[in-house]
Amino acid sequence: MLNLILFGPPGAGKGTQAEYLIEKFGLIHLSTGDLLRSEIAAGTPLGLEAKKNMDKGELVPDEVVIGMIKNKLDANKQVKGFIFDGFPRTVEQAGALDKLLEENGTPVSGMLSLEVEKKELIARLLSRGKTSGRSDDQDESIIENRIQVYNEKTSPLKRYYTAQKKHFCINGMGSVEDIASRLETTVGKL
Ligand code: ADP
Repeated sequence: MLNLILFGPPGAGKGTQAEYLIEKFGLIHLSTGDLLRSEIAAGTPLGLEAKKNMDKGELVPDEVVIGMIKNKLDANKQVKGFIFDGFPRTVEQAGALDKLLEENGTPVSGMLSLEVEKKELIARLLSRGKTSGRSDDQDESIIENRIQVYNEKTSPLKRYYTAQKKHFCINGMGSVEDIASRLETTVGKL
């Protein structure tokens, strides 16, 4: 199985690139952001609770997202692999993912880290906010907070996966096609 983690700050292009990788390698896409937004759209108690954190640019509690991922892994046995997008976002989530995948006998293959300059991230998110309807993309102070949360809580995961020799840096600046081909080359070597 091919289990990829698509990693990077908000606005790095994880969702866009995930679409290419799913197609190319036949993987199941698991985006915790998308799963949470479906819960909000369905008006579930979990969604309503998560929305409070998301609207501020804070993380949703670990146990909530870990539970959602566990359900999806249980519901998708016998697949070619997964692409994790926006998960894990904390060291605790990474540890939980390792445990869940270990139970299935299929470890993380690699963590692909998209590197993008902060100025570019803010520009991309504000531009997405004009069409996505996502309130967390429309306010620059919320965007700043999301980037800060990423730097504090999420970027330490690079060390976590470096220690496992699974961390790969990808230049996330440039055209969508160029970035996709960089990712493809790296995944091809896993
Ligand atoms: P982006 O990568 O642009 O921030 P996402 O859709 O991945 O967009 O995430 C949107 C919001 O959903 C985050 O700011 C956070 O509140 C919540 N979220 C998504 N994934 C996680 C996660 N793994 N852990 C905690 N919160 C999460």
